[in-house]
Amino acid sequence: MNQKKPGPMYSSPKRKVCPVCGQVSYSAAGIHPQCAEVQADEKRLKKAKGKATEKVVTMEATPSAWRKPCPKCGTQVHVRKAQCECGHKFVTQKTKSGISDD
Ligand SMILES: [Zn+2]
Ligand SMILES: [Zn+2]
Repeated sequence: MNQKKPGPMYSSPKRKVCPVCGQVSYSAAGIHPQCAEVQADEKRLKKAKGKATEKVVTMEATPSAWRKPCPKCGTQVHVRKAQCECGHKFVTQKTKSGISDD
């Protein structure tokens, strides 16, 4: 009655999940043939749409347009930030009140 438990020999065999539809696939590739076609199609579409999506990608990849260098420490700070991490305050408006640092 007090037998040792055998190792988890047959516990949850790894089932491959199709990356396209999310359903379990029993094929060797782990992807349904029809889904593979869909995936290939999507890749083709992405390639065709490359020019359109490029803009979005470059906008994310070029933060320089949204950043300004801190004159104090040189750190690229987001334009919306009024103060750098080093403590330097960016003066964007003509309010010259309270500039005592620097
Ligand atoms: Zn599938
Ligand atoms: Zn700074």
